[in-house]
Amino acid sequence: MNSMQQPLKDSYIVSLRMAGFNCRYDGTSKYNAVVAKIIDEGRAFPLCPELLGGLPTPREAAECRYVEKELKVFTEAGDDITDAFLRGAQAVLDFAIEHKITKAVLYRNSPSCGKRTYDGTLSGKLADYPGVAAK
Ligand code: SF4
Repeated sequence: MNSMQQPLKDSYIVSLRMAGFNCRYDGTSKYNAVVAKIIDEGRAFPLCPELLGGLPTPREAAECRYVEKELKVFTEAGDDITDAFLRGAQAVLDFAIEHKITKAVLYRNSPSCGKRTYDGTLSGKLADYPGVAAK
């Protein structure tokens, strides 16, 4: 699509895992029949910010936490993989802007897609902030 085309009204970006693609950190998916239906209707674009950021599948689990007011992402081993998450989030944002898509259905609790995400303490507690791409 080029910039002369109309906005994709009623279109969504959706988390790729909900289309049944095995892009989760553990190599599984989270198929969602409603999301699959709107993809089949041509109204949704499945994307995975973490794959777009260059991360492999499977990969180590990761959680977000704020460090000096910046949202960072660390693996369970403590590696800082924020840059990959930012790259992926930017790729999704660029796609949304290019295609004038203003809505998204994103998977819960993910360090990328979650409206809320785990708090970075590896304790299973949810934080009151979103993952990197959702933000
Ligand atoms: S970035 Fe989104 S689509 Fe990709 S694995 Fe995480 S929740 Fe699923």
